[in-house]
Amino acid sequence: DVRVRFCPSPTGNPHVGLVRTALFNWAFARHHQGTMVFRIEDTDAARDSEESYRQLLDSLRWLGLDWDEGPEVGGPHAPYRQSQRMDIYRDVADKLLAGGYAYRCYCTATELDERREAARAAGRPSGYDGTCRDLTAEQRAAYEEEGREAIVRFRMPDEPITFTDLVRGELTFTPDNVPDYGIVRANGAPLYTLVNPVDDALMEITHVLRGEDLLSSTPRQIALYKALIELGIAKSIPAFGHLPYVMGEGNKKLSKRDPQSSLNLYRERGFLPEGLLNYLSLLGWSFSADRDVFTVAEMVEKFDIADVNANPARFDLKKAEAINADHIRMLDVKAFTAACEPWLKAPHANWEPEDFDQAAWEAIAPYAQTRLTVLSDITANVDFLFRKEPVEDEASWQKAMKEGSDALLRTARAKLEAADWTSAESLKNAVLAAGEEHGLKLGKAQAPVRVAVTGRTVGLPLFESLEILGKDRTLARIDAALA
Ligand code: GLU
Repeated sequence: DVRVRFCPSPTGNPHVGLVRTALFNWAFARHHQGTMVFRIEDTDAARDSEESYRQLLDSLRWLGLDWDEGPEVGGPHAPYRQSQRMDIYRDVADKLLAGGYAYRCYCTATELDERREAARAAGRPSGYDGTCRDLTAEQRAAYEEEGREAIVRFRMPDEPITFTDLVRGELTFTPDNVPDYGIVRANGAPLYTLVNPVDDALMEITHVLRGEDLLSSTPRQIALYKALIELGIAKSIPAFGHLPYVMGEGNKKLSKRDPQSSLNLYRERGFLPEGLLNYLSLLGWSFSADRDVFTVAEMVEKFDIADVNANPARFDLKKAEAINADHIRMLDVKAFTAACEPWLKAPHANWEPEDFDQAAWEAIAPYAQTRLTVLSDITANVDFLFRKEPVEDEASWQKAMKEGSDALLRTARAKLEAADWTSAESLKNAVLAAGEEHGLKLGKAQAPVRVAVTGRTVGLPLFESLEILGKDRTLARIDAALA
């Protein structure tokens, strides 16, 4: 039975790398009809926030990534928030100490620094040097007497650790590279190094899929797992797979602080969840050589961790947008209409809310659906329908209104007045004929009409737009432009 986990720390805003990890775990779980565990790693009270916790849940729900065990749904290994599991960690730490798998280390930070520097200078490995590994009871008593505080440090085995990474193949870490490490702070607070593998063990996680940045924790966790197995706390060691880095601008690792990496940004701009998931799935994985656009269900069906690429993935906003645009086209028109409504009905839409016209919106929606890249662009595309007057934009006006535009507009107005307003074709012919009279091709002739009526130089198909806006309002706007 496949059991995977997504276990973010609730700090800051959800970001692209985090969501990619969630997605790959989720797709793997769903592909294998396994279990997706959602665990909150909130053991760092100074950095964790309730706000961030709520955002994480909300983001996963928005994306449609559901979980079988975790916050709000519960499960056999509850609680799923580490801040509520402190007794468990204390108990495990005590057992590790009692069994000799871990020891109390009294070295002060200054001492550790000094020795690390000296080791570096001498070209020796600079990790923990084992000073407190085998203290006698008297030595320990003496340190305590001095008033020194102790952390709990895990004793790494003296032989290399080898495992087969699901993405990278066989990897070996020698003891020099993986020194003994702290698992409980002097104040008793358990660290990630302890709580993460302990919970993976207790929650019977079978596959750990996470970012490459955590690769160096894996040999430590495998060693800890072995101790947990000997103590009867764990059953077996999970398989590990490390997902490639995501590179941003300038081939630098996309950092949490990059504005491009904020999930909220995509949400606010009106990416569809399925468009964003499609794009994120391509960060380290591919559907097939000749297809970049697919549904979440298709991804789940095809997802295999063995197909994940170890090389860094490049984040490409243009490609993300192009994929999102394809997903907008794939919606049925009702779904598209509904998906845009949060933007159209938002208080920041640039018209008076009472002027919103549902029928006009539904009439124009199909034209918008074939053109939008992100849903937030909808307001600028349809505001001419709901505003009393078109938006005022000097630059657009300058661009479209040339010498002779007034004369053209007058002719166009007359021909539009006589046209058949139940047919966009007839409106087009009116402007076409007006253009001919002034020696202008349709493209040139329609530019002043568009800017007079919509305030913009680009937009949805003009003649359908005029038809939906209606004769009276169209002519009034042309009159206003001529006044
Ligand atoms: N809470 C850890 C993080 O967000 C989880 C790392 C892991 O998957 O082991 O980085």
